[in-house]
Amino acid sequence: MLKILVATKNKGKLKEIQEILGEIPVKLISLPENAPDVEETGSTYLENALIKAKTYGTKYKLITLADDSGLEIDSLNGLPGVFSSRYLGKDTPFEEKMKNILDLLKDKDNRKARFRCVSVLYNPDEDKFVSFEGVVEGEILKEIRYGNSGFGYDPIFKPNGFDKSFSQLGTEIKNKISHRAKALAQVKDYIENNLLGGDMIEIKVNGKRLPANKYVYSVFEKVILALLSTLKDIPEIKTVEIKIDKSQEQQN
Ligand code: IMP
Repeated sequence: MLKILVATKNKGKLKEIQEILGEIPVKLISLPENAPDVEETGSTYLENALIKAKTYGTKYKLITLADDSGLEIDSLNGLPGVFSSRYLGKDTPFEEKMKNILDLLKDKDNRKARFRCVSVLYNPDEDKFVSFEGVVEGEILKEIRYGNSGFGYDPIFKPNGFDKSFSQLGTEIKNKISHRAKALAQVKDYIENNLLGGDMIEIKVNGKRLPANKYVYSVFEKVILALLSTLKDIPEIKTVEIKIDKSQEQQN
């Protein structure tokens, strides 16, 4: 089964990812306890997600999923944004960070804000990545509204179409509409359409696996086999490997 390393030490995030990607046949591997910490020194979400994905993907030699996210407030020119976790200092309690934001916004009419998440899938074998973005629009409340769930800035963020803070809405609703859920839904689609075909049939040209789509391969399997027999006469193509796993085929 395809293995994917999830580059986070945050248990809540891991659970969210397991819930969404658990629906497809991939084995999610969590970071070992002793995995080194990584400094998120990038100036964009993508840079930070890539720092994590490349560090861990290269170290553990696995396709790696990493993300970075933040809260963007229009009246503060998009801050705290990519600095969300570092805002007012990494170890400052979130209650203090939230009070500071409410203070800065106290005379502002425009309270529009959004959470943004960028997720990256990195393949260390080919040093290549794909990235996906999810956004949830909303506004900053006038007071802190704690609920039974959530973390970070959740108690001051109200998503559009709801009248409660992210904390009050609960994980079930948050995990359906959140920035991370939206980015992960695209990751899931990408894995299903591009990486999972290899469980049934895997084609490598010059040692590199071709992007596989299980539906395309199941329909065109015979055509592909006929095509491969002609490829052997093309001098640039040194090796062609085909792997057909009949046990997987029968399960589908
Ligand atoms: P990271 O993606 O875990 O690095 O998140 C960066 C920071 O953005 C977090 O420390 C939070 O401050 C903030 N953040 C990201 N996602 C959420 C969320 O869903 N709720 C509340 N705060 C969030």
